[in-house]
Amino acid sequence: MITMNQPAIDDFMQMVVKRNPAQLEFHQAVYEVAMNIIPFIEEHPEYKKANILERMIEAERILIFRVPWMDDAGNYRVNRGYRVQMNNAIGPYKGGLRFHPNVTLSVLKFLAFEQVFKNSLTTLPMGGGKGGSDFDPKGKSDNEVMRFCQSFMTELFRHIGKDTDIPAGDIGVGSREIGYLFGQFKRLTNEFTGVLTGKGYAYGGSLIRPEATGYGLLFFVEEMLKTKGQSIKNKKVVISGSGNVAQYAIEKTLAFGGIPLTASDSNGFVYDPDGIDTDKLAFLMELKNKRRGRISEYADEYGCPYYAGEKPWKIPCDVALPCAVQNELNETDAQLLIKNGCKLVAEGANMPTTPEAISLLQKNEILYAPGKASNAGGVAASGLEMSQNSIRLYWTREEVENRLKVIMHNIHEQCIQYGKKADGTTDYLKGANIAGFVRVADAMLAEGHV
Ligand code: NDP
Repeated sequence: MITMNQPAIDDFMQMVVKRNPAQLEFHQAVYEVAMNIIPFIEEHPEYKKANILERMIEAERILIFRVPWMDDAGNYRVNRGYRVQMNNAIGPYKGGLRFHPNVTLSVLKFLAFEQVFKNSLTTLPMGGGKGGSDFDPKGKSDNEVMRFCQSFMTELFRHIGKDTDIPAGDIGVGSREIGYLFGQFKRLTNEFTGVLTGKGYAYGGSLIRPEATGYGLLFFVEEMLKTKGQSIKNKKVVISGSGNVAQYAIEKTLAFGGIPLTASDSNGFVYDPDGIDTDKLAFLMELKNKRRGRISEYADEYGCPYYAGEKPWKIPCDVALPCAVQNELNETDAQLLIKNGCKLVAEGANMPTTPEAISLLQKNEILYAPGKASNAGGVAASGLEMSQNSIRLYWTREEVENRLKVIMHNIHEQCIQYGKKADGTTDYLKGANIAGFVRVADAMLAEGHV
């Protein structure tokens, strides 16, 4: 997308690429923000004078460490651990840990950068961070995962704390991993504090935290559809992924009367023309969370088509929810969605839509919501878990879910406030970028040259 400020954006991006060579995902995330923020800053000299955007793209601190561990066969193994502490202008660093073989510094910097804006949008006092490792929990025994988590925390514990940096889960880090990480933190520090979120309910977790990203996504989708006088009821919904976010996106789609048609993993996708109902979802959850099997087994169980090595975007739908991984929806996929009548794309994953695909969706007036707005429900519920830990109380499911709903409504309002176009429609990406930016930028101005 070419704008009046393109030369300034190009100059800025040249500097970003030069200072962060070969970090393609990070460049992409910064570009998506710069496109909206540079024109905004031109009209707000106080931010320009203080070089706020240049400061925001520089992590406050990055930790990289060795994670040695031993597998069940007694072999010495080693992985690389990271924590990117991006920005703590509005609160302690907060953001998940990802365990996946594709984890690199670039991936974690893009995620940490996005997290700063997302956390700001929730209006809760949380700065942005992200971390993880190139360790792959898939195919590892529980004991191997535990030994890895203990070794990872043996270094990380000295850099985090309930008022410093509070990690959570992400791809490859679910309740099992959070439990092992928390157990090790407690042994090392002799402290029981809310240093991680996504904890089990028995030891300080919040009700609705597991559901929060998927549920929040659907709350946001309903808000978007409401602006067109519609709802998700009876709409066909194509969803990618079959992990935490996808599972609860399917659950809430069903609760709102929508028809979830697909689920996927890194090997392929299943298309269930009759819709994934509550019983089938229970099977999928058992398959993925307990047996840790492949999505193709869903097709075997219910006799529906399985597409190996493919993505679900070719299935005709009204609504598409990418809930797996970055850059999983490209320009060709967007073309297919548009051709088949899709009217709304909302991101459950972080940066799943490529810039070319976003541009195409927007040109074709498809409602498009960026993850930093539409998937903020997860970190919002993490913020609520931190509050409960601090006051040492548990809130009910209804209380947490109602708060989550209000937060998603407010994020939608902020997108409209900053993203409303002359024709009355909303540019959600612009709205989310500017709303997220303003709060952090104002705090940075107030805190001086930090
Ligand atoms: P999970 O690990 O629970 O699930 C990830 C899903 O994505 C799995 O189905 C996985 O399949 C699939 N996947 C991973 N890599 C690929 C790939 N290269 N191609 C296709 N599919 C792939 O993670 P979450 O559900 O927690 O996270 C999903 C997305 O949502 C991520 O982008 C994450 O950053 C984002 N997110 C998560 C939040 C949370 O609260 N959990 C909050 C906000 C955003 P397989 O099993 O084969 O690896």
